[in-house]
Amino acid sequence: MSDAPQSPAVMIPSISPRDGEVHAEVPGVTADALPAVFERARSAQRTWAATPMSDRARVIKQIHKRFLERGERFVELLTAETGKPAGEAWTAEVIGNGDLFPYWAKHAKRYLKTEKISVNPINYPGKKAFLEYVPRGVIGVIAPWNFPVAIPCRAFVPALMAGNAVVFKPSSQCPRLGELLGEVFAPELPDGLFQVVLGRGSVGSAFVDAGADFIAFTGSVGIGRRIASHCGENLVPCALELGGKDAAIVLEDCDLDRTAYGVVWGAFNNAGQNCASIERVYVVRSIAERFVARVKELTLELRDGEDFGPLTTVDQRQDVIDQVDRAREAGATVLTGGEVPDSKGFWYPATILTDVSHEMDVMTEETFGPLMPIKVVEDEEEAVRLANDCKYGLTASVWTKDRDRGLRIASQLEAGVVTVNNHGFTAAMPNAPWSGVKETGFGATNSHLALMEMVRPRFVLVDRSSRREMWWYPYNEALLTVAAALRDLALGKLGVIGKLIKGFLARFK
Ligand code: NAP
Repeated sequence: MSDAPQSPAVMIPSISPRDGEVHAEVPGVTADALPAVFERARSAQRTWAATPMSDRARVIKQIHKRFLERGERFVELLTAETGKPAGEAWTAEVIGNGDLFPYWAKHAKRYLKTEKISVNPINYPGKKAFLEYVPRGVIGVIAPWNFPVAIPCRAFVPALMAGNAVVFKPSSQCPRLGELLGEVFAPELPDGLFQVVLGRGSVGSAFVDAGADFIAFTGSVGIGRRIASHCGENLVPCALELGGKDAAIVLEDCDLDRTAYGVVWGAFNNAGQNCASIERVYVVRSIAERFVARVKELTLELRDGEDFGPLTTVDQRQDVIDQVDRAREAGATVLTGGEVPDSKGFWYPATILTDVSHEMDVMTEETFGPLMPIKVVEDEEEAVRLANDCKYGLTASVWTKDRDRGLRIASQLEAGVVTVNNHGFTAAMPNAPWSGVKETGFGATNSHLALMEMVRPRFVLVDRSSRREMWWYPYNEALLTVAAALRDLALGKLGVIGKLIKGFLARFK
């Protein structure tokens, strides 16, 4: 825990997926430390909420600078704790968050500005009203290990700009990265406003009872369900960014070479441990043979360690091994990979499967590993039908040179993000909402929609009228007459008088 009061320590090992060895141990906490953490955060938040937006923006820019200055250290630890290649660590986690800080520093004020709400002067004379956006309080951020820097930052920055405190639980797979994020954020903020709690899953599950006002969770469907249910019992709002089984639809009129490059990257970046990895490819028959051959060629060119890292955990690798074995037994052809290499660490090769059926779990269950099952379809209708026949709905992509066709298909896909001729990268755009449907969860990351989850509305009305209200006591004949007249007005039955009243309403709108 960054600087929060200590409870009996738990040592969290930092395991390198590249060799499977423990490279460091970091002290963590148990759930009993949380009430004190949240109390400190709440107290700091009161001061921060009263800090002008321009000052908050200045602090966020300072944090951005600290973040970038530590680029090399982030990359080093990302490689050490997740196994990802340096190129990927830089692009997806450091530079990939390049727009995030300046975007919120510049735009949060506009979105959170107090709004004037118009009040009907006939029904509610003499009143003025406003809508204010109030910070929720303490936001609990619980993050996974696959993008352990980029993902939590996408919650931290809007949460802080909106005037909240943040308590962050990183994945226990990435304790040193969690610590480093604490070193970047906490020193620039009021004491206790940003705290990192390193601990096991039980620490995350205690957030609600410790007093979180909102939970921003990214992780698996199973844990997401548990959090949602605990939040439901306690009426704590939450946003859940969960699993995916993203489809790529490859049409006969695509740019074949570019599509092959894009699909190979979409499937195998981060060793496939990307919530938005391409995990199903539907290619139309007329182009299938050429497409599969090119994708195979490009996959075989991937260099271990440089283009392609190991799986991050040994359990994750076992899930992939099991899925591939089951698919093979059920008749799938393994075109590349499919065998565990004889090396230290949690390596598994980029694996392409063909001859897959819609029912195999490589086509229905999240893989979260370097697996690209390719299914040949007759036409776009079949591709769309199969793509939508899935319990997840995070992202999807359509590959065609015909823009209108791409947009038409996009409008039919049951996913939170659809890209035409690209895949998955838009999570790095702070103004592009990232969300899912079905078991992928609810709520948004990025864009004003995410910011709005970090605040609650407060409607304020000021009455300067000196008259008693029509609907106050006593309920007499005059009230009934006025009510009936208002009804007639709403029905447009009051002729000239009605027109006059409408004109009056329009004038004072
Ligand atoms: P996970 O096992 O669900 O863990 C996510 C986080 O929850 C970790 O910090 C974990 O801590 C914590 N946690 C574990 N048990 C908990 C509990 N009972 N209560 C509260 N928190 C608890 O997920 P993961 O394996 O790290 O990540 C992979 C999953 O994340 C995949 O399913 C992937 O699709 C999904 N994901 C989704 C998105 C998206 O945008 N939709 C983005 C990235 C990843 P410990 O690590 O200490 O167990």
